[in-house]
Amino acid sequence: MPLEIVTIPCLQDNYAYLIHDAASGQTALVDVPEASPIMAELSQRGWALSEVWITHHHPDHVDGLPEVLAQYPAKVVGSKGDAHRLPPLDMAVADADNFSFGGETVQVLDMSGHTIDHIAFYLPESDAFFTADSLMVMGCGRLFEGTPAQMYLSLQKTAEMPPQTRIYSGHEYTASNASFATTVDPANPALILRITDIEYKRANGLPTIPSTLELERETNPFLRADNPEIQEHLNLTGASHIDVFTEIRARKDRF
Ligand code: ZN
Ligand code: FE
Repeated sequence: MPLEIVTIPCLQDNYAYLIHDAASGQTALVDVPEASPIMAELSQRGWALSEVWITHHHPDHVDGLPEVLAQYPAKVVGSKGDAHRLPPLDMAVADADNFSFGGETVQVLDMSGHTIDHIAFYLPESDAFFTADSLMVMGCGRLFEGTPAQMYLSLQKTAEMPPQTRIYSGHEYTASNASFATTVDPANPALILRITDIEYKRANGLPTIPSTLELERETNPFLRADNPEIQEHLNLTGASHIDVFTEIRARKDRF
């Protein structure tokens, strides 16, 4: 039985995710922006909560945790390096750690950049990658703590992942990310096509998440620093990929 993944819109534009294993009855929650929509979803589905996986310390990813735990005692998993500024952890994990959930392997990846010690959770058997504010749909998280080079190297960790890997990121920023993408990659036909799909989804109140790595490789400028057309557009033909990435990130900050 494949794991069931439920997307829960929270706050203004955050997402939390439930991952449910029907065989064992276990349910994991990725990030806790606020308690009420998550608890409503759990109660409607009749699921108990077994684990909470925290990606990073920002309030819009942890603030709902005490309220959720009060009703659903669960094991809290988070980054070892971030433990001093996260809620109390039952299991502290670091880059390249593995643990199992619902009979599957969960790989922990350090995806520093947005914050230092931001982690992501990769379930290769389910082709699911919970990236929060590292790799985002058509974008990447703003660099509050890390350098462009750190974020670039974090995103490079997706290079070996299969194209069908589904990207579950932490926010619904896709429409504005797409508008920005057209400013650095204006002639990309895949991007032009994708914008129509995004506009349709947002007009109908649908999440643009999950995306796939294949689509991101075709349309996310932050995964395309090696693209000759983008380099030419930025007057950076032949520059190092980190320099191209840095310029794209700087432009996004001003966008
Ligand atoms: Zn954040
Ligand atoms: Fe966030």
